[in-house]
Amino acid sequence: MPDVTLYDTRTRSLQPFEPRDPARVGIYACGPTVYARVHVGNARPFVVFSQLKRFLEHEGYGVTLVGNVTDINDKIYTAATAAGVPSDELAQQMAKAYREDTDRIGLGRPDAEPHATEYVPHIIELIQRLLDTDAAYVASGDVYFRVRTVDGYGELSRRDLEQMDQGEGVEGADLKEDPLDFALWKAWKEGEDTSWDAPWGRGRPGWHIECSAMAEALLGVEFDIHGGGVDLVFPHHENEAAQTFAARGRPLAKIWMHNGMLELASASGEAEKMSKSVGNIRGLHEVLDAVGGDVLILFFSSGHYRQPLAFSDERLEDARRSAERIRDAARRLVPGPSPDALRPHRDAFFDALRSDFNTAEALASLYGWIRDANRSEETVGSDDLREMLDVLGLEGLMAADEGPPAEATELAEAREAARAAKDWAEADRLRDELLAMGWVVRDGPDGPELVPAS
Ligand SMILES: [Zn+2]
Repeated sequence: MPDVTLYDTRTRSLQPFEPRDPARVGIYACGPTVYARVHVGNARPFVVFSQLKRFLEHEGYGVTLVGNVTDINDKIYTAATAAGVPSDELAQQMAKAYREDTDRIGLGRPDAEPHATEYVPHIIELIQRLLDTDAAYVASGDVYFRVRTVDGYGELSRRDLEQMDQGEGVEGADLKEDPLDFALWKAWKEGEDTSWDAPWGRGRPGWHIECSAMAEALLGVEFDIHGGGVDLVFPHHENEAAQTFAARGRPLAKIWMHNGMLELASASGEAEKMSKSVGNIRGLHEVLDAVGGDVLILFFSSGHYRQPLAFSDERLEDARRSAERIRDAARRLVPGPSPDALRPHRDAFFDALRSDFNTAEALASLYGWIRDANRSEETVGSDDLREMLDVLGLEGLMAADEGPPAEATELAEAREAARAAKDWAEADRLRDELLAMGWVVRDGPDGPELVPAS
């Protein structure tokens, strides 16, 4: 198998991709907390890890991609109370909307999409194990993780223990043995309408333990790639790693892979992180309404996944023009093998992906392939382009070379009828109409046939 390297956040280095079982590569990518409709920034990890799965499959690996949905979280209680709806109803609505919105991107679904509410027994079992080994303690119905019992805590995020803030605010602060400890379980509180029974009392799990339990249940421990946005490195992923190691004595994942944030240009011209606190949010569904899935995928692919990516109308317009350029080129191709002269572009495309999944560099090679294909004086086979687009989830841009649309076939038949009736003016008019659609009629061995206009 060709060498693939990926950047690992924990070691801060490019690591050779050496899965425990090439036929069963496991990827877990943290998904959204479903308290509101997702914004376009939430789609970046969805796109990156869906494409990574396609690429690794292209390289000959068998891949299971797990993309979770966090449907137990403080934010959901807060949003549900504000909206005056039960929290489980809000979470279900928003999980459904997330599924519908991401479906429209056109990359398919992850192999498993666990919801935290479906894994509460696994979560309770994992917390019990941490209590049994003294890595956790109960305080007034809450359960907290003893951070200082873990050697190497802070290794993933490279933070100094003394500078850390778990982001849990004042809540439970007086119950913690150490301010560094974080919640595995929160006791039921007045106003919370969803809760579960556990041996230490009624309540609900914390966010970090949910992911540890779901990932282990579906992929086992020491699976191949744990992914998510770079904003999740601390505390979320640091805590996932610590809990699982404390409970199982083995690392949760081999490679930690993080995508950069989507940034919006602010009025001052400076990039700022896209989050719910910024006023200029664009819903994923709004962006898809405006440009469609292929353009959005091209936009995300235009940057290296680890870098921040600026979101602007101009960048979207660039992606739209690129999609058009690919579609136009695809229309001029014929099915079948591509000429050897174009091979180096195709090979460079896959080499770029093998080197830390560099989609930006891969796209540059794809555009080089198109440029040379357009210049070719011979007809060019489409196989290379189809292979490259498939891996990025852009096979939809090839649809034009699958054959003429029904409308063009009808026009061609009407034109034949006009010619048979010697109505040359009508035949010419239909020919022009076909040409406007990108098709011409040519005489083939089996009579007239439609071919793409070049
Ligand atoms: Zn997570």
